[in-house]
Amino acid sequence: KHFDISEFTPITPTAPISVGAHGGRAKCLQRLIRLDLPVPRTVALSFSAVRSIAAGQDPDTAALLAEFGEGPLISVRPSSEDPDWGGPGAILNIGMNDAQHKTLAHKLGQPAADALYLRFIQAYAVHVARLDPDMFELPQTSDRSAIDMMLHDFESEMEEPFPQDPARQLADVLRSMARAWEGPSARLLRQGKGAPADAGLGLVVQEMAIGVGNSGIGECGSGVIQFVDGDTGLPQITGRYLSQSQGREALVAEEGAIYLTRDGRGPSLEELCPEVFEDLKRYGDLSRARLREEMQIEFTIEAGNLYVLDAVRVARTARAGVRIAVALAASGIIPEAEAVLRVEPRALSELLHRQVDPADRRTAVIARGIAASPGAATGRLVFSSRAAQTAAAREEPCILVRRETTPGDVRGMHASVGVLTEKGGVTSHAAVIARGLGLPCVVGASSLAIDRRKRTLTAEDGRIFHEGDTVTLDGTTGVVREGAARLLEPALDDAFRTLLSWADELRDIGVRANADTPAEAKVARAFDAEGIGLCRTEHMFFDENRLSVMREMIFTDSPEDRAAALDRLLPMQRADFRELFEIMRGLPVCIRLLDPPLHEFLPQSRDGLHDLAEALDLPVSKVTARVEALSEFNPMLGMRGVRLGIAVPEIYDMQARAIFEATVEAGQSVTPEVMLPLVSARREVELVKARIDAVAAAVKAETGADFDYRLGVMVETPRAALRAEEIAPHSAFLSFGTNDLTQMTYGLSRDDAGRFMGAYVSQGVFVEDPFLRLDVEGVGELLTVGAERGRRGHPDIVLSVCGEHGGDPDSIAFCRAAGFDYVSCSPFRVPLARLAAAQLAI
Ligand code: PEP
Ligand code: MG
Repeated sequence: KHFDISEFTPITPTAPISVGAHGGRAKCLQRLIRLDLPVPRTVALSFSAVRSIAAGQDPDTAALLAEFGEGPLISVRPSSEDPDWGGPGAILNIGMNDAQHKTLAHKLGQPAADALYLRFIQAYAVHVARLDPDMFELPQTSDRSAIDMMLHDFESEMEEPFPQDPARQLADVLRSMARAWEGPSARLLRQGKGAPADAGLGLVVQEMAIGVGNSGIGECGSGVIQFVDGDTGLPQITGRYLSQSQGREALVAEEGAIYLTRDGRGPSLEELCPEVFEDLKRYGDLSRARLREEMQIEFTIEAGNLYVLDAVRVARTARAGVRIAVALAASGIIPEAEAVLRVEPRALSELLHRQVDPADRRTAVIARGIAASPGAATGRLVFSSRAAQTAAAREEPCILVRRETTPGDVRGMHASVGVLTEKGGVTSHAAVIARGLGLPCVVGASSLAIDRRKRTLTAEDGRIFHEGDTVTLDGTTGVVREGAARLLEPALDDAFRTLLSWADELRDIGVRANADTPAEAKVARAFDAEGIGLCRTEHMFFDENRLSVMREMIFTDSPEDRAAALDRLLPMQRADFRELFEIMRGLPVCIRLLDPPLHEFLPQSRDGLHDLAEALDLPVSKVTARVEALSEFNPMLGMRGVRLGIAVPEIYDMQARAIFEATVEAGQSVTPEVMLPLVSARREVELVKARIDAVAAAVKAETGADFDYRLGVMVETPRAALRAEEIAPHSAFLSFGTNDLTQMTYGLSRDDAGRFMGAYVSQGVFVEDPFLRLDVEGVGELLTVGAERGRRGHPDIVLSVCGEHGGDPDSIAFCRAAGFDYVSCSPFRVPLARLAAAQLAI
C-alpha cells in the first residue's frame, strides 16, 4: 500500500516541522532556511512515515522525487530526536544511473561523473543491498571499465541488474534506513544513550550540491567549519576543506584537505575562495545569534557557489561547554539562567580534576572497579600507608593499593596521589576520604588479586605488577591503566567562576562542605561553600603524636588517668578548631563529636601491638587482651557515636571544651555548631546536652567571654527519623547522615556492598547504587517523615543532609522539594551542588 504525499513535508520557513515529529536535523535545517542560508531543497519524512516504511509500506517515491523537479541527485540523512542517539549513515548521490552518468559527464566532466556513479553503486551495494564491503572497494582509477566491473559484480551477487530507476533506488534506501533503526544493535546503542524504547527516526531527503566537477566550471568541494574550539571553547575557526569531495570526506582525508583560515599552515579556503569564506563567517555569526548555539556547518561548494547542507551543535568537552554557555550569555544571546541550565552539573567534576586525555586511552587496562572519586593520577604502586609516606617524603607520586582502607590509612592516603581498593563501594572509607581530599579513587576492583606480603597485584589479564611499577589511576571512569597516560589539567577559569556566580544568584537551597582538615576547609572556601556542614573530628586523631595519646586514653583504667590523657588532647583539638574557624571566618562550622568505635584507633597487626605495648610499658598480652575486649562483632552497630559519648562522657566533654575555647580565642564572629552522631533516642540527646551546656557555662565562667552555640542531632538511624518529633525540641538542627541511614534502612553494609552492587544494579534490583543516589522511596520516606516530625517538635528547626548524597543532583532535588535548608557535600562537589541547586530553582 502506498501512503500519500502528505507524509512528506518540504521544509520551508513555515512548514509544520517539529523535533518531536521529524527529528532534530529536520528542525535545524528549517531554522537555517529561515535564516536564509543557502540550503538546497529539502523534504522531511516524519517518524510515523519512517515507521510505516519499516513496517513494509511502500513510500510513493515518484511523488517524493517530483518535489525536486527534473532529475537532480539527492541524499538521505537520519534525523533522530537527539543527535546522540545516532542513526543510519547518510546515503548520497541517489539517482545516479547510466543516463545521469552521461548527462553529468557532459556537465561536470568524465572523471567527476565516473566518481559519482562508482560511489553510489558502492554505497547502495554495501548499505542497502548489504553486500560484502570487500567486494565493493572503490578502485584507484575510476573509469567506465571500473564502473562496468562494479555493476557486473552487483548483478552477479544480486541476480538482478543494478536498479536504474531513481524512484526504486530511493524507495530501497528509505526502507533500508528505516529498518536499520529498528534493528537490535541500533536499539541497544541508543538506549544506552538514554533514548526511550519508542524513539523515532525521521529522514531528510535533500537535493545534492555536487562537490566534484572539472575545473572549468569553478571551484567544487566540500568541508566543515566551526567557530569555537571544541576542547577549550575559545573562539577559533577550525575545520577542513577538500576540493573535489562530498560529505564529510574533508575531515578524514589523509591528504589534499586544507585548513580554512590563512594562518601560515599552507593554502587555505580563505585564500582559495575569499568570498565563500566571508559568507561562511557570516553564517556562523548568524547561526550563533539566532540559533543561540555554536554550530558546526557542513557545506559544499558547487561550481563556485556555496551551499549549506547541515549544521550540528559543536561537539565539546565539559570545559568548552562551560565557556561557550558563558560566552553566549555574556554577549546577550541567551539569558544567564539559560547558561546555567545548559551545563550538566556532573560534567563539572571534569573541570575540577586532572583527566586522562581522551585522545590517550591507549594504554592497557589493569583493573576495573567503581569510579569512587573523580580525577586521574599517575604514580608508582605502593601497598601500605607506610610505603606511601616514604614515597611522599622522596617526593615520588604513588598510588596506594589496599584491600580496603581504615582510619589508620588516612595518612597514607594523604601521601598518595590516588587510591585503589579491592573491596568497598561508593561510601566505603576509601571513597569518602578520597572525595574529601579530591584524590582520584577506584574501589571494589574485585578482579584484582593483591598480595601484600609480596607487594604485588595480579591484573585481570593475569599479569603481575610490583611495588614501584608506574600506573595511571582514573577515578572518573573507574579503571587503572598500565604506565603513564597523558593527563589534562583542571580548568577553574573565569568562565567557570562566572557560571557559578550566576548559579548562586538563582538557587534557593544552601550548599555547605564536609571538611575535616584545614586543607579541605580551604578548598571549601575556594569553591564558595556557605560553611562547613560536617567536620568529622575522628580524622584529627590519626597523626602519629595524637594517635599515641589517643591510645593511652583508651588504655587508662581510672577516670583520673583518662582525664590526664584527654588534657593532652585538648590543646591539639583546640588548635584544630581554631584553625578551621579562622579559615571559615564568618561562616558556620558544624563539628561532629567523635563517631567511630574506639577499637578503630588500636593497632591490629602483631607489630603494631608490640609497638603499643612498648609505648605504654605494658606486657603485649595485656594490650592484646584489651584490644580484644574492645572488639565488637558488629562495630558499625556497636559502641560508636553518641553511645560513646554516654559510655565515656569525658571524650565529648573534652571536645566540647576545645570547641568553646577555640570559639573564645577566635572572637565574636564564630557561632559553633556541635553535632551528635548516631542518635536513636531522645534521652541520649538530653544526657549529652546537659553535659555540653555545663562545659559551655564553665568555659564562659573561666574566660569571662560570652558566646552562642547550637547543638544539633544527626539523623542516621531509622529510629531517630521516626522519633524526630521528640528529639527536635532539644536540637537547633537535624542533619540527615544519609550514608548510615541508607546502610541501616537497607541493612546493607556500606563497606561491603561494592561486592554485589554491580549485580544488583545490572539486574534492576536497585535502579542505582543507593549510597550514590538517594533511595527516594525508602530512605527518602524516612527523610520526609523525619523532617515533618522534626518540624512538628520544633517549627524553626534547620534541616540538612550531610551524607554523600548531598553532592548528587537528584538527591539535592529531593531535599529541596522536602524543604531542607541546605546540603553538605565533599568540597570538590560543592560547585556541582551549587549548579544543580540553581537548575532546580529556574
Ligand atoms: C553519614 O552517615 O551519612 C555521615 C555523614 O557520617 P559518616 O559518613 O561519617 O558515617
Ligand atoms: Mg554516619
